[in-house]
Amino acid sequence: MKINRRDSLKILGAGTLGLLAGPLRGNMAKVSHIVSLSFDDGFEKSSIKTAEIYEKHGLSACINVIATGHQGGSDDAYQNWPMADFSLWNNLKKRGHEIMPHSYRHANLTKMPLEEAKGLVRKCMDVFEKELDGYSSDESVYNCAYNASSPELEAWLKTKFRAIRTGWGYFNPLPHEGQFRLTCSSNGPENIDKQLGKTIDDFLEGPSGWMIYNAHGLDDEGWGPLSSVFLDELLGRLMEMDHVKVQPVISALDCVQMKKY
Ligand SMILES: [Zn+2]
Repeated sequence: MKINRRDSLKILGAGTLGLLAGPLRGNMAKVSHIVSLSFDDGFEKSSIKTAEIYEKHGLSACINVIATGHQGGSDDAYQNWPMADFSLWNNLKKRGHEIMPHSYRHANLTKMPLEEAKGLVRKCMDVFEKELDGYSSDESVYNCAYNASSPELEAWLKTKFRAIRTGWGYFNPLPHEGQFRLTCSSNGPENIDKQLGKTIDDFLEGPSGWMIYNAHGLDDEGWGPLSSVFLDELLGRLMEMDHVKVQPVISALDCVQMKKY
């Protein structure tokens, strides 16, 4: 059974987005292509809008947050927009969206000694454990700042997290047991509508797999913003395709445990 948009909205009206997970996972046999758009940094205005657009289509968004972003913790010029705090992150999580860690203060962990990098990741984990309801690192994906990681750091992250998202290349094999290192691509600093549209078209024309694309803010926020109108139309178009599934990263990995892929 394909859940069309009207059915999704009916289900949405009946309760929380979390309830969608069951019916939407009902028939994975036909799914050959999974698309995960992974929104980084935690801009307040963009995150609210992103969640609303996903909800309109009966979908869960995938939002990755800098632990100290709302306290001005990042020096990156592309994070110079208001960031939300954990009251919004808890609210969005309750509504069925995935809220995942994206560093403590957006430092490039490959540009410092390994022990210092581990210390920053530990501090990020501490903030999430304290502030985000129901958070557990071993059920989460750590989204590396600048998609930068080293083999040594990745080996250590594997002892802490269920998965990591790092660079580079949007194509991943379909979710499978033991999958830990997920790669993504990204684009910027200008608007990414055209580039993302072309990447998705290329992906859908190619072999079966899982596309993970690292987006940031919407409209005028962040590095490589995406237009909200484009996102809305894109999700509408993808929802019409029986063989395509739009999913957050952990939700896609969960389907393996549930033997849905
Ligand atoms: Zn970032």
